[in-house]
Amino acid sequence: MVAVSASNPIAARLLICALAGAVPWTDARLSPRTLAGAVPDQDFYRAFDTLWLDSQEFEELARAQLVDPRSPVNVRGLQATAMLNESRRAYLCWFQESAEDDFVPLANCPRCAAPLVLCRDRLVCEDCRIAVYN
Ligand SMILES: [Zn+2]
Repeated sequence: MVAVSASNPIAARLLICALAGAVPWTDARLSPRTLAGAVPDQDFYRAFDTLWLDSQEFEELARAQLVDPRSPVNVRGLQATAMLNESRRAYLCWFQESAEDDFVPLANCPRCAAPLVLCRDRLVCEDCRIAVYN
C-alpha cells in the first residue's frame, strides 16, 4: 500500500494498494477519467484540512466535517475512492487528530462500525475502503 504524496494531484488522502507491495502512484496505471474524478475531491478536502490546521475560528467547524462519515467532504472522498477502486485497490485515509494528548486510535470503522483489520501497516475496513493510521 502506498500513500499518494501531497505533491501529486491526488495527494495523501487516497491510498492505493498493490497486492505485491508498495508501488509508486505513477505505476498505478490510473485512467485519465479516474484521475480527473479524484482531483476535485482532493481540492475539496484540502479546504477543510486548511481550516482545521489554521486553528482559528473555523477549526471546530472543519473538524466536525472531517470526522463525520456523512459529511460532504467524506461522502465525496468515498465516491472518489470507489472510482479509484474500478482500476486499483484503494482506500480513503480517514482523518484523525492523532497529535492530541488524549488521542485514542480507532478500532472500528467510522462509517459502518465493523472492527478494523490489519492490512500491512494500517488498519482498514475492506467493506468501506477506509484506512486509518494508528
Ligand atoms: Zn466500514
